This record gives sequence, C-alpha cells and structure tokens, in this order.
Amino acid sequence: MITLQDVDAVITPYKSQPMLSPGDASNLSYKLIELLMEGSCEREVLRALSSLFSTDTYEQLVQERVINHHCGYPLCGVVDPQKIYHKVQKNPLVAKLKLPGAYKTSYCTQQHYQGSEFYKKQLSPEAIWARTDVVNLDVNPKDQYYTFLLEDVLDNSDRVPRNSMDTLQQSLDELRLSVTQQSGVDHNDIKIKEHDASEL
Ligand SMILES: [Zn+2]
Repeated sequence: MITLQDVDAVITPYKSQPMLSPGDASNLSYKLIELLMEGSCEREVLRALSSLFSTDTYEQLVQERVINHHCGYPLCGVVDPQKIYHKVQKNPLVAKLKLPGAYKTSYCTQQHYQGSEFYKKQLSPEAIWARTDVVNLDVNPKDQYYTFLLEDVLDNSDRVPRNSMDTLQQSLDELRLSVTQQSGVDHNDIKIKEHDASEL
C-alpha cells in the first residue's frame, strides 16, 4: 500500500524551491505517476495529491495503470489482464471519443470508474508549474483537504461539509448518467447514505 510517507519521499527534493520550473514540474509529475502506476494507495494519498495533479497528469496515471493491467483507480489493487487492458486506438480522433463501454476495460467495477471520474472532476486543468498559488508541497495530513473522494461521500464522512451534499449528489447523478449512456443499460443509483437523525 502506497502511503503519504512514500509520496513525501518523492516530493522532498523539490520542497526547497520557491516555485517549480516547468522541467521540475514535469519530472515531479512523472515520478508521482511512477510511484502510483502499480498497486494501490491510501485515501490520504489521493486527497493530498489533488493539489499536485492536473487533469492531464491524472489521466496519464490512469492510462499507465491500465497498460499495467491494474484497475485505473489508484485506490484499487485489482490486477486483471483478462479484463483490464489498454486498447490501442490508432485513429487519434476516434481515441478521443468515449466509446460505449470503453470504461469497462480500464476499471474493475463501475464504482471505481465513477470514483476516478469524481476525483478527476475536482482537479485543476492547469499544469502545476503554471499555478502561482500551489507550491505547497507539504503532504502531512491537515485538518481537511478540499478534495473529496467518492468513498468519503458514500460513507457520509465528516470530511464532507453537509452543505456540499446536494452538489455532490448532483455530480454523482451526472456520473451515473454517463455510465448509463456508455453502457446502454440502466444501473442502480449510487446514493449517499441517509444521515442518521441521532447523529445530527
Ligand atoms: Zn478497481
């Protein structure tokens, strides 16, 4: 299991710099992908890395995992060469289209596809070197991160502020819709657990 300490070891050499150069940023992204492209990581790792991943970097990570026959979701340890494989699409235009059911060869389950998309939606499209606000390379667990995992939402975790629940349910509904469209079959709703009245 990949831990925050492993991530910290990768990041430490870059910590002394006030701002990352484009070259350093791309090296760092490459090293993070290398660290996470096999096996599974702790939830804390994904939360903490949300400030260092751009959408593109995360997509590259998912692709590397799939090439290695790992479920694309970094929290998952499933390796299944029969089911998970990289489909080589020679036509770059076709490759950009989301073909029906394409996610099934990249993830072990529909929920992991949704978890991965849910996470990706919260990432910044900007490359890390272009961000002036983020060179906070501290990965020690803080009181809270601003990124939530699908698992946090489904567990109704205290990390997720109550007032975000409606927006999050909406994101989940959109993801469910995209799965339905991709597979052509209706699936069970993913619903956030009702909060027990006694806890309120
Ligand atoms: Zn999985």
